[in-house]
Amino acid sequence: MTPAVRAEIVVDLDAIRHNVRALRELTGVPSMTVVKADGYGHGMVEVARAAREAGSEWIGVATIDEALALRAAGDTGPLLCWLTVPGDDWAAAIDAGVDVTAYSVAELGAIAATGRRARVQLKVDTGLSRGGATAQEWPDVVARAVQGERDGSWTITGIWSHLAASDEPAHPANDAQQEAFERALEQAADLSPEVRHLANSAAGILRPSSRYDLVRFGLASYGLDPAPGETPDLGLVPAMTAHASLALTKPIHAGDGVSYGHTWVADTDTTVGLVPLGYGDGVPRHASNAAHVLVDGKQRAMRGRVCMDQFVVDLGGDRPEPGSDVVLFGPGDHGEPTAQDWAEAAGTISYEIVTRIGGRMTRRYVGTSAR
Ligand SMILES: *Cc1c(COP(=O)(O)O)cnc(C)c1O
Repeated sequence: MTPAVRAEIVVDLDAIRHNVRALRELTGVPSMTVVKADGYGHGMVEVARAAREAGSEWIGVATIDEALALRAAGDTGPLLCWLTVPGDDWAAAIDAGVDVTAYSVAELGAIAATGRRARVQLKVDTGLSRGGATAQEWPDVVARAVQGERDGSWTITGIWSHLAASDEPAHPANDAQQEAFERALEQAADLSPEVRHLANSAAGILRPSSRYDLVRFGLASYGLDPAPGETPDLGLVPAMTAHASLALTKPIHAGDGVSYGHTWVADTDTTVGLVPLGYGDGVPRHASNAAHVLVDGKQRAMRGRVCMDQFVVDLGGDRPEPGSDVVLFGPGDHGEPTAQDWAEAAGTISYEIVTRIGGRMTRRYVGTSAR
Protein backbone atom coordinates (compact mmCIF):
# COMPACT_ATOMS: atom_id res chain seq x y z
CA MET A 1 0.00 0.00 0.00
CA THR A 2 1.37 3.43 -0.87
CA PRO A 3 1.52 5.66 2.19
CA ALA A 4 -1.18 8.30 2.37
CA VAL A 5 -0.27 11.76 1.12
CA ARG A 6 -0.51 14.12 4.09
CA ALA A 7 -0.20 17.31 2.12
CA GLU A 8 1.18 17.76 -1.37
CA ILE A 9 1.77 20.25 -4.14
CA VAL A 10 1.26 18.81 -7.62
CA VAL A 11 2.90 20.71 -10.48
CA ASP A 12 1.76 20.01 -14.02
CA LEU A 13 4.76 20.53 -16.29
CA ASP A 14 2.57 20.10 -19.37
CA ALA A 15 0.67 23.17 -18.20
CA ILE A 16 3.95 25.10 -17.89
CA ARG A 17 4.99 24.04 -21.41
CA HIS A 18 1.58 24.94 -22.79
CA ASN A 19 1.65 28.38 -21.17
CA VAL A 20 5.20 29.13 -22.30
CA ARG A 21 4.28 28.23 -25.90
CA ALA A 22 1.03 30.19 -25.82
CA LEU A 23 2.75 33.32 -24.50
CA ARG A 24 5.62 33.01 -26.97
CA GLU A 25 3.09 32.75 -29.82
CA LEU A 26 1.05 35.68 -28.52
CA THR A 27 3.97 38.10 -28.47
CA GLY A 28 6.00 36.81 -31.40
CA VAL A 29 9.22 37.85 -29.62
CA PRO A 30 11.65 35.76 -27.56
CA SER A 31 10.59 34.91 -24.02
CA MET A 32 12.35 34.83 -20.70
CA THR A 33 10.67 32.51 -18.21
CA VAL A 34 11.19 33.91 -14.72
CA VAL A 35 11.81 31.14 -12.16
CA LYS A 36 13.01 33.11 -9.11
CA ALA A 37 11.82 32.16 -5.63
CA ASP A 38 11.89 28.45 -6.49
CA GLY A 39 9.84 28.98 -9.60
CA TYR A 40 7.14 30.95 -7.77
CA GLY A 41 6.81 27.90 -5.50
CA HIS A 42 6.57 25.43 -8.41
CA GLY A 43 10.21 24.26 -8.38
CA MET A 44 12.89 26.33 -10.08
CA VAL A 45 14.85 23.56 -11.80
CA GLU A 46 11.86 21.62 -13.09
CA VAL A 47 10.08 24.73 -14.35
CA ALA A 48 13.21 26.02 -16.08
CA ARG A 49 13.69 22.68 -17.82
CA ALA A 50 10.05 22.58 -18.97
CA ALA A 51 10.27 26.19 -20.16
CA ARG A 52 13.39 25.48 -22.22
CA GLU A 53 11.67 22.43 -23.73
CA ALA A 54 8.78 24.66 -24.74
CA GLY A 55 11.08 27.11 -26.49
CA SER A 56 11.72 29.80 -23.91
CA GLU A 57 14.99 31.36 -25.08
CA TRP A 58 15.90 32.88 -21.72
CA ILE A 59 15.51 32.04 -18.05
CA GLY A 60 15.46 34.80 -15.43
CA VAL A 61 16.17 34.67 -11.70
CA ALA A 62 16.80 37.26 -9.00
CA THR A 63 20.00 36.16 -7.27
CA ILE A 64 23.38 34.80 -8.32
CA ASP A 65 22.77 31.80 -6.04
CA GLU A 66 19.61 30.94 -7.97
CA ALA A 67 21.49 31.21 -11.26
CA LEU A 68 24.31 28.98 -9.98
CA ALA A 69 21.80 26.40 -8.74
CA LEU A 70 20.31 26.24 -12.24
CA ARG A 71 23.74 25.76 -13.78
CA ALA A 72 24.52 23.04 -11.22
CA ALA A 73 21.30 21.31 -12.29
CA GLY A 74 22.49 21.28 -15.89
CA ASP A 75 20.90 24.38 -17.41
CA THR A 76 23.17 25.81 -20.11
CA GLY A 77 21.09 28.41 -21.99
CA PRO A 78 20.86 32.20 -21.75
CA LEU A 79 20.26 33.05 -18.11
CA LEU A 80 19.94 36.46 -16.45
CA CYS A 81 20.09 37.42 -12.77
CA TRP A 82 19.41 40.89 -11.42
CA LEU A 83 19.67 41.31 -7.69
CA THR A 84 23.02 41.50 -5.93
CA VAL A 85 24.47 42.92 -2.74
CA PRO A 86 28.03 44.11 -2.15
CA GLY A 87 30.28 41.09 -1.67
CA ASP A 88 28.26 38.78 -3.93
CA ASP A 89 30.31 36.35 -6.01
CA TRP A 90 30.20 38.02 -9.43
CA ALA A 91 33.13 35.84 -10.57
CA ALA A 92 31.17 32.63 -10.00
CA ALA A 93 28.26 33.93 -12.06
CA ILE A 94 30.53 35.10 -14.88
CA ASP A 95 32.42 31.78 -14.90
CA ALA A 96 29.06 30.00 -15.16
CA GLY A 97 28.15 32.01 -18.24
CA VAL A 98 25.35 33.87 -16.48
CA ASP A 99 24.35 37.34 -17.66
CA VAL A 100 24.65 39.61 -14.65
CA THR A 101 22.82 42.91 -14.22
CA ALA A 102 24.58 46.11 -13.20
CA TYR A 103 22.66 49.03 -11.71
CA SER A 104 25.57 51.36 -11.06
CA VAL A 105 29.14 52.41 -11.82
CA ALA A 106 30.14 50.75 -8.52
CA GLU A 107 28.71 47.42 -9.63
CA LEU A 108 30.46 47.72 -12.99
CA GLY A 109 33.66 48.32 -11.02
CA ALA A 110 33.08 45.12 -9.00
CA ILE A 111 32.50 43.19 -12.23
CA ALA A 112 35.69 44.61 -13.80
CA ALA A 113 37.61 43.69 -10.64
CA THR A 114 36.90 40.00 -11.26
CA GLY A 115 39.26 40.21 -14.23
CA ARG A 116 36.87 38.04 -16.19
CA ARG A 117 35.17 38.90 -19.42
CA ALA A 118 31.52 39.20 -18.41
CA ARG A 119 28.15 39.30 -20.10
CA VAL A 120 26.49 42.31 -18.49
CA GLN A 121 23.03 43.78 -18.78
CA LEU A 122 22.34 47.31 -17.60
CA LYS A 123 19.18 48.16 -15.71
CA VAL A 124 17.77 51.66 -15.80
CA ASP A 125 15.19 52.83 -13.27
CA THR A 126 12.44 54.38 -15.37
CA GLY A 127 10.12 55.09 -12.44
CA LEU A 128 9.68 52.05 -10.20
CA SER A 129 12.21 53.56 -7.77
CA ARG A 130 13.52 50.10 -6.96
CA GLY A 131 16.66 48.69 -8.62
CA GLY A 132 18.44 50.30 -11.56
CA ALA A 133 20.30 53.48 -12.38
CA THR A 134 18.35 56.71 -11.96
CA ALA A 135 18.03 59.09 -14.92
CA GLN A 136 20.79 61.18 -13.31
CA GLU A 137 23.15 58.21 -12.94
CA TRP A 138 22.40 56.65 -16.33
CA PRO A 139 24.84 58.69 -18.49
CA ASP A 140 27.73 57.75 -16.17
CA VAL A 141 26.71 54.09 -16.13
CA VAL A 142 26.56 54.10 -19.93
CA ALA A 143 29.95 55.84 -20.21
CA ARG A 144 31.56 53.27 -17.88
CA ALA A 145 29.87 50.46 -19.81
CA VAL A 146 31.23 51.77 -23.13
CA GLN A 147 34.73 52.07 -21.65
CA GLY A 148 34.54 48.48 -20.36
CA GLU A 149 33.46 47.19 -23.74
CA ARG A 150 36.44 48.96 -25.35
CA ASP A 151 38.93 47.56 -22.82
CA GLY A 152 37.49 44.05 -23.09
CA SER A 153 36.00 43.81 -19.59
CA TRP A 154 32.59 42.79 -20.82
CA THR A 155 29.98 42.68 -23.52
CA ILE A 156 26.87 44.66 -22.75
CA THR A 157 24.24 42.09 -23.75
CA GLY A 158 21.09 43.87 -22.59
CA ILE A 159 19.47 47.08 -21.46
CA TRP A 160 16.31 46.76 -19.47
CA SER A 161 13.84 48.22 -17.02
CA HIS A 162 10.76 47.16 -15.06
CA LEU A 163 7.26 48.64 -14.88
CA ALA A 164 5.42 49.72 -11.74
CA ALA A 165 1.81 49.40 -12.86
CA SER A 166 1.67 47.00 -15.80
CA ASP A 167 -1.40 45.32 -14.27
CA GLU A 168 -3.25 48.64 -14.64
CA PRO A 169 -2.98 49.35 -18.39
CA ALA A 170 -4.51 52.82 -18.06
CA HIS A 171 -2.11 53.91 -15.31
CA PRO A 172 -0.08 56.94 -16.48
CA ALA A 173 3.14 55.37 -15.14
CA ASN A 174 3.15 52.95 -18.09
CA ASP A 175 3.51 55.65 -20.76
CA ALA A 176 5.88 57.68 -18.60
CA GLN A 177 8.15 54.70 -17.96
CA GLN A 178 8.19 53.63 -21.58
CA GLU A 179 9.15 57.16 -22.64
CA ALA A 180 11.90 57.17 -20.03
CA PHE A 181 13.10 53.81 -21.36
CA GLU A 182 13.21 55.21 -24.91
CA ARG A 183 15.31 58.14 -23.69
CA ALA A 184 17.66 55.79 -21.86
CA LEU A 185 18.09 53.72 -25.02
CA GLU A 186 18.87 56.87 -27.03
CA GLN A 187 21.51 57.86 -24.49
CA ALA A 188 23.03 54.39 -24.82
CA ALA A 189 23.39 54.60 -28.61
CA ASP A 190 27.10 53.70 -28.34
CA LEU A 191 26.08 50.27 -27.04
CA SER A 192 24.45 47.59 -29.16
CA PRO A 193 22.84 45.12 -26.77
CA GLU A 194 21.38 41.82 -27.99
CA VAL A 195 18.19 42.46 -26.06
CA ARG A 196 16.24 45.47 -24.84
CA HIS A 197 13.42 44.49 -22.50
CA LEU A 198 10.80 46.18 -20.36
CA ALA A 199 7.73 43.94 -20.06
CA ASN A 200 6.74 41.42 -17.41
CA SER A 201 3.68 39.17 -17.78
CA ALA A 202 1.00 41.84 -17.60
CA ALA A 203 2.79 44.22 -19.97
CA GLY A 204 3.78 41.42 -22.33
CA ILE A 205 0.12 40.49 -22.67
CA LEU A 206 -1.58 43.89 -22.47
CA ARG A 207 0.93 46.36 -23.92
CA PRO A 208 2.40 45.20 -27.24
CA SER A 209 4.59 48.30 -27.59
CA SER A 210 6.49 47.27 -24.45
CA ARG A 211 7.66 43.91 -25.84
CA TYR A 212 10.88 45.13 -27.55
CA ASP A 213 13.26 42.15 -28.02
CA LEU A 214 12.17 40.00 -25.09
CA VAL A 215 9.32 39.61 -22.60
CA ARG A 216 10.05 38.47 -19.06
CA PHE A 217 7.14 36.16 -18.26
CA GLY A 218 6.82 35.12 -14.64
CA LEU A 219 3.32 34.63 -13.31
CA ALA A 220 1.61 33.93 -16.64
CA SER A 221 4.02 31.03 -17.27
CA TYR A 222 2.47 29.36 -14.24
CA GLY A 223 -1.00 29.84 -15.73
CA LEU A 224 -2.08 32.57 -13.33
CA ASP A 225 -3.60 35.89 -14.29
CA PRO A 226 -1.21 38.82 -13.78
CA ALA A 227 -3.95 41.45 -14.18
CA PRO A 228 -7.31 40.09 -13.03
CA GLY A 229 -10.14 41.87 -14.80
CA GLU A 230 -7.84 43.14 -17.58
CA THR A 231 -6.35 40.03 -19.18
CA PRO A 232 -8.14 38.44 -22.15
CA ASP A 233 -8.69 34.68 -21.99
CA LEU A 234 -5.49 33.18 -23.37
CA GLY A 235 -6.30 29.62 -22.34
CA LEU A 236 -3.46 29.56 -19.83
CA VAL A 237 -3.55 26.57 -17.48
CA PRO A 238 -2.72 26.96 -13.77
CA ALA A 239 0.10 24.51 -13.11
CA MET A 240 -0.19 24.10 -9.35
CA THR A 241 -2.65 22.09 -7.27
CA ALA A 242 -2.34 22.13 -3.48
CA HIS A 243 -4.14 19.35 -1.66
CA ALA A 244 -4.13 17.40 1.61
CA SER A 245 -5.79 14.48 3.38
CA LEU A 246 -8.71 15.27 5.63
CA ALA A 247 -7.47 14.47 9.15
CA LEU A 248 -10.82 13.95 10.89
CA THR A 249 -14.45 15.01 10.99
CA LYS A 250 -16.67 15.66 13.99
CA PRO A 251 -20.09 16.97 14.84
CA ILE A 252 -20.33 20.30 16.64
CA HIS A 253 -23.33 22.03 18.13
CA ALA A 254 -24.96 25.40 17.66
CA GLY A 255 -23.06 27.81 19.88
CA ASP A 256 -19.71 25.97 19.64
CA GLY A 257 -16.76 28.20 18.80
CA VAL A 258 -14.11 27.06 16.31
CA SER A 259 -10.33 27.56 16.48
CA TYR A 260 -8.33 30.18 18.38
CA GLY A 261 -10.30 33.13 19.69
CA HIS A 262 -13.61 31.58 18.62
CA THR A 263 -13.81 34.03 15.73
CA TRP A 264 -16.48 31.77 14.27
CA VAL A 265 -19.32 30.27 16.29
CA ALA A 266 -21.69 27.69 14.79
CA ASP A 267 -25.24 29.01 14.52
CA THR A 268 -26.66 25.53 13.90
CA ASP A 269 -25.51 21.99 14.58
CA THR A 270 -23.06 21.00 11.84
CA THR A 271 -20.02 18.87 11.10
CA VAL A 272 -16.49 20.18 10.71
CA GLY A 273 -13.35 18.74 9.14
CA LEU A 274 -9.71 19.23 10.11
CA VAL A 275 -7.21 20.09 7.35
CA PRO A 276 -3.58 19.40 8.36
CA LEU A 277 -2.10 22.60 6.89
CA GLY A 278 -1.51 26.00 8.44
CA TYR A 279 0.53 29.15 8.17
CA GLY A 280 3.63 27.03 8.82
CA ASP A 281 2.93 25.62 5.36
CA GLY A 282 2.19 28.99 3.79
CA VAL A 283 -1.59 28.94 4.22
CA PRO A 284 -2.24 32.64 4.78
CA ARG A 285 -3.67 33.47 8.21
CA HIS A 286 -5.40 36.40 6.52
CA ALA A 287 -7.59 33.81 4.75
CA SER A 288 -9.13 32.88 8.12
CA ASN A 289 -12.91 32.64 7.85
CA ALA A 290 -12.71 33.56 4.15
CA ALA A 291 -11.19 30.87 1.92
CA HIS A 292 -12.83 27.69 0.63
CA VAL A 293 -11.57 24.19 -0.14
CA LEU A 294 -13.04 21.34 -2.21
CA VAL A 295 -14.00 18.23 -0.22
CA ASP A 296 -16.17 15.43 -1.56
CA GLY A 297 -17.33 17.43 -4.59
CA LYS A 298 -18.34 20.59 -2.75
CA GLN A 299 -16.63 23.82 -1.80
CA ARG A 300 -16.50 24.10 1.99
CA ALA A 301 -15.95 27.29 3.92
CA MET A 302 -13.02 27.70 6.24
CA ARG A 303 -14.22 28.42 9.79
CA GLY A 304 -12.19 30.20 12.43
CA ARG A 305 -8.56 31.13 12.34
CA VAL A 306 -5.81 29.41 10.37
CA CYS A 307 -3.40 27.92 12.94
CA MET A 308 0.27 27.07 12.44
CA ASP A 309 -0.39 23.47 11.38
CA GLN A 310 -4.09 23.16 10.73
CA PHE A 311 -7.41 24.77 9.94
CA VAL A 312 -11.07 23.78 10.14
CA VAL A 313 -13.74 23.69 7.44
CA ASP A 314 -17.52 23.49 7.69
CA LEU A 315 -18.84 20.24 6.22
CA GLY A 316 -22.47 21.26 6.74
CA GLY A 317 -23.56 17.92 8.20
CA ASP A 318 -21.62 15.71 5.74
CA ARG A 319 -19.16 13.16 7.14
CA PRO A 320 -16.64 12.39 4.38
CA GLU A 321 -14.15 9.68 5.33
CA PRO A 322 -10.99 10.85 7.08
CA GLY A 323 -8.31 10.62 4.42
CA SER A 324 -10.62 12.16 1.81
CA ASP A 325 -8.95 14.55 -0.59
CA VAL A 326 -9.05 18.24 0.36
CA VAL A 327 -8.14 20.52 -2.55
CA LEU A 328 -7.13 24.01 -1.43
CA PHE A 329 -6.63 25.33 -4.94
CA GLY A 330 -5.92 24.16 -8.45
CA PRO A 331 -6.81 24.97 -12.06
CA GLY A 332 -10.48 25.18 -11.07
CA ASP A 333 -11.76 22.67 -13.61
CA HIS A 334 -13.05 20.21 -11.00
CA GLY A 335 -14.89 22.81 -8.96
CA GLU A 336 -11.96 23.60 -6.70
CA PRO A 337 -11.01 27.18 -5.79
CA THR A 338 -8.10 28.77 -7.66
CA ALA A 339 -5.02 30.51 -6.31
CA GLN A 340 -6.73 33.71 -7.42
CA ASP A 341 -9.74 32.85 -5.20
CA TRP A 342 -7.37 32.34 -2.27
CA ALA A 343 -5.65 35.63 -3.05
CA GLU A 344 -8.97 37.45 -2.91
CA ALA A 345 -9.89 35.69 0.35
CA ALA A 346 -6.57 36.69 1.91
CA GLY A 347 -6.38 40.22 0.50
CA THR A 348 -3.28 39.52 -1.56
CA ILE A 349 -2.19 38.49 -5.06
CA SER A 350 -1.93 34.99 -6.53
CA TYR A 351 1.86 35.48 -6.79
CA GLU A 352 2.07 35.36 -3.00
CA ILE A 353 -0.28 32.39 -2.61
CA VAL A 354 1.70 30.03 -4.87
CA THR A 355 5.13 31.32 -3.86
CA ARG A 356 4.53 30.89 -0.13
CA ILE A 357 2.63 27.61 -0.09
CA GLY A 358 4.95 24.74 0.77
CA GLY A 359 6.46 24.34 4.22
CA ARG A 360 6.05 20.68 5.11
CA MET A 361 4.18 19.79 1.92
CA THR A 362 5.86 17.46 -0.56
CA ARG A 363 6.02 18.38 -4.25
CA ARG A 364 5.23 16.01 -7.11
CA TYR A 365 5.54 16.61 -10.85
CA VAL A 366 3.15 15.38 -13.47
CA GLY A 367 3.16 15.89 -17.24
CA THR A 368 4.66 13.92 -20.09
CA SER A 369 8.31 14.52 -19.31
CA ALA A 370 8.08 14.75 -15.53
CA ARG A 371 11.19 13.14 -14.08
C1 LIG B 1 9.62 38.92 -11.00
C2 LIG B 1 10.04 39.74 -12.14
C3 LIG B 1 9.46 39.57 -13.41
C4 LIG B 1 8.27 38.66 -13.66
O1 LIG B 1 7.10 39.37 -13.33
P1 LIG B 1 5.65 38.72 -13.58
O2 LIG B 1 4.73 39.80 -13.21
O3 LIG B 1 5.58 37.54 -12.67
O4 LIG B 1 5.62 38.33 -15.00
C5 LIG B 1 9.97 40.27 -14.47
N1 LIG B 1 11.00 41.12 -14.29
C6 LIG B 1 11.57 41.35 -13.08
C7 LIG B 1 12.67 42.32 -12.95
C8 LIG B 1 11.09 40.68 -11.97
O5 LIG B 1 11.64 40.92 -10.77
